[in-house]
Amino acid sequence: MVSEIVIIIAPITFVVIMAAVYLSIPRPGPHYTSRLTCPKCGKTFDYEWLPGGSFTVIRLGTKRLMCCQICHKWSTFDVISAIVKPVKEEEKSGDTANSSEGT
Ligand SMILES: [Zn+2]
Repeated sequence: MVSEIVIIIAPITFVVIMAAVYLSIPRPGPHYTSRLTCPKCGKTFDYEWLPGGSFTVIRLGTKRLMCCQICHKWSTFDVISAIVKPVKEEEKSGDTANSSEGT
């Protein structure tokens, strides 16, 4: 029956669409810059990231498994302890009300 197929596919389609919409929305919030040193190539680079939002990394607690921007090899980086400075939107200054949001 066609209606049974629709019943099965409709929720899946809905979830996919909602995920696409969620991921396409630019989320305002604190940006962080971490100065990371690659254990593979030893080079240092700045990595900008958003708490809780990234495709290209795998979170391991405070560390992230991600691809080095220089040698493109996968390594774990402790982005939390390597934070250089919190970069915020220009209009927001002195307001830290949303600093403790979780994921
Ligand atoms: Zn590297």
